[in-house]
Amino acid sequence: KLTVTTAQQWLDGFAAAIAAHKDYLSELDTPIGDGDHGSNMARGLTAVQAAIDGQDFAGLKDLFKAVAMALISKVGGASGPLYGTAFLEMAKLGDQDADLGHLLDAALAGIRKRGGAAPGDKTLVDVWTPVVEAVKAGSLTQTVVDDAVNSTKDMVARKGRASYLGERSVGHLDPGSVSSGYLFTALIATGV
Ligand code: ADP
Ligand code: MG
Ligand code: MG
Repeated sequence: KLTVTTAQQWLDGFAAAIAAHKDYLSELDTPIGDGDHGSNMARGLTAVQAAIDGQDFAGLKDLFKAVAMALISKVGGASGPLYGTAFLEMAKLGDQDADLGHLLDAALAGIRKRGGAAPGDKTLVDVWTPVVEAVKAGSLTQTVVDDAVNSTKDMVARKGRASYLGERSVGHLDPGSVSSGYLFTALIATGV
């Protein structure tokens, strides 16, 4: 079960990881994209922190709504609307259902509907899918996250900018999968 306090800890951890790995995320996006994933995410998470730090949220719904708005308005690119949709879908459940598996399931459904990517397309869906399964089974570990991120390396991109490279996208980690890996590493660190 997630609370406003643990969710804020989760988001603080995510923001810290994005700030620490901003250059790395943009480097990953250079050979198979346009080199902006780190700066996009860092701009977005700075806005998230400005929106939530020191604020008293009545519930998860208000918290996740504020996060979604910051992400949608500040990240940009393909990833902004996708991360934003994830938090908007969680906001919809927020106050009725704080079960992490249910929240993340709804978030992933929103991402898939919005972006049209399926597992195996070398997008952040390839991290979210096994992680959400593991959360629902009560078996999320760092290994699950790391294996999911690394699995994108050998995939051929079928969605997003990397898909323009076709087979030449093989051999590179998907940047959005790496940033989603940080999201779930931060979740594990909260102990929820
Ligand atoms: P842009 O490609 O517009 O510059 P970013 O660099 O911020 O945006 O984000 C790229 C990441 O977004 C990719 O690494 C991938 O994980 C994710 N992505 C792109 N398109 C899709 C999609 N249709 N569905 C899911 N994820 C996607
Ligand atoms: Mg990019
Ligand atoms: Mg871009």
